[in-house]
Amino acid sequence: MDVQTIRKDFPILGREVNGHPLVYLDNAATSQKPNSVIQKLVDYYQNYNSNVHRGVHTLGTLATEQFEEAREKIRRFIHAKSTKEIIYTRGTTDSLNIVAYGYGRVNLTAGDEIVISPMEHHANLIPWQQVAQVTGAELKYFPMKPDGMLDLDDVRKTITDKTKIVACTEVSNVLGTVNPVKEIAAIAHEKGAIMVVDGAQSTPHMPVDVQDMDADFFAFSGHKMLGPTGIGVLYGRQELLEAMEPVQTGGEMIDEVDFHSATWAELPWKLEAGTPHISGAIGLGAAVDYLENIGMEAINRYETELADAAYEKLKELDGVTVYGPKHRAGLVSFNIDGIHPHDVSTALDADGIAVRAGHHCAQPLMRWLKCESTVRASFYFYNSLDEIETLAKGIKDAKEFFGHVI
Ligand code: PLP
Repeated sequence: MDVQTIRKDFPILGREVNGHPLVYLDNAATSQKPNSVIQKLVDYYQNYNSNVHRGVHTLGTLATEQFEEAREKIRRFIHAKSTKEIIYTRGTTDSLNIVAYGYGRVNLTAGDEIVISPMEHHANLIPWQQVAQVTGAELKYFPMKPDGMLDLDDVRKTITDKTKIVACTEVSNVLGTVNPVKEIAAIAHEKGAIMVVDGAQSTPHMPVDVQDMDADFFAFSGHKMLGPTGIGVLYGRQELLEAMEPVQTGGEMIDEVDFHSATWAELPWKLEAGTPHISGAIGLGAAVDYLENIGMEAINRYETELADAAYEKLKELDGVTVYGPKHRAGLVSFNIDGIHPHDVSTALDADGIAVRAGHHCAQPLMRWLKCESTVRASFYFYNSLDEIETLAKGIKDAKEFFGHVI
């Protein structure tokens, strides 16, 4: 992994913040974009901006070809069987809401169970709370070990014959825990439940094979994997998507419309109402090209190295608590005794270091951790070991500034 060469592809990484070179460690919130993705968007708007699946003019045909070509790239990237299973959405939150309302709300009844983990992002939690409330289903949680890992024996005990939906993140956006979603899916299926996987923090960073993991639904966002904001994907097993009624209607998702009735188009368009985020989808296709060119195995190996280095460095610092297991994906959440996470983040920003402070849209997890918020440094393959040194130095400086003696 030649990080210095890779960094040249990302124009923003060359800028300064507060008089220091930018150290961008907020990749779990959103990633930066390489030139190839930026140029793909410019090319679309400059040369063939047009709506898709509507006109038969040249620009419309070009836009439609690129839009559908991107879908095929995404299919290949996550190893889905068919492009019918790749639904363009606004992002992970949108995708998970579509599953909760389009599948959960229709198929659950009182007495059924939905099982999720305590480390879910609100996007994979609130929709299930809402659906549980309207259907009378019970929302249950897996227990979690003190280091923030799930135990498969506990998983086996929590999923019962009443469980209809299991929904779990593949990677925690706070703890960095990598969950055994394939094993959890197998247990869910033994009990007749479906498995919904939140892939927001895994898809950008590791190889994903939805068939191998045997997910029934899998959700992710383009903007966390070099793509534009506002575009995401819902993968769904074809039989389930076929059986699902659209949550939104209108636009090109129809087959025939009469005064009092309508029939739906085939998958995947049936679930894509209105004008889609055309440039977003095309840009996401370019992002997939970029990631494949480097290779997801290589990206994952390198980021594990970064995460290990950061974990070891921060663990050594007096008065610093690091959350989550030792073996983790590329992020580290921590707190410094007596200093509010927002103050830590502001102090780091003064040194040009961008991290996130807050509850990371995981308030129940914050309760479980017995804190209100944390500071999170999250890495991508364009970060360097030097930047982790800079982070550690920034933390030491912050401690000194706020009156802690190292
Ligand atoms: N799930 C996880 C694990 C996340 O980290 C995020 C975003 O941070 C989401 C879901 C929501 O993603 P989006 O805001 O792109 O819909």
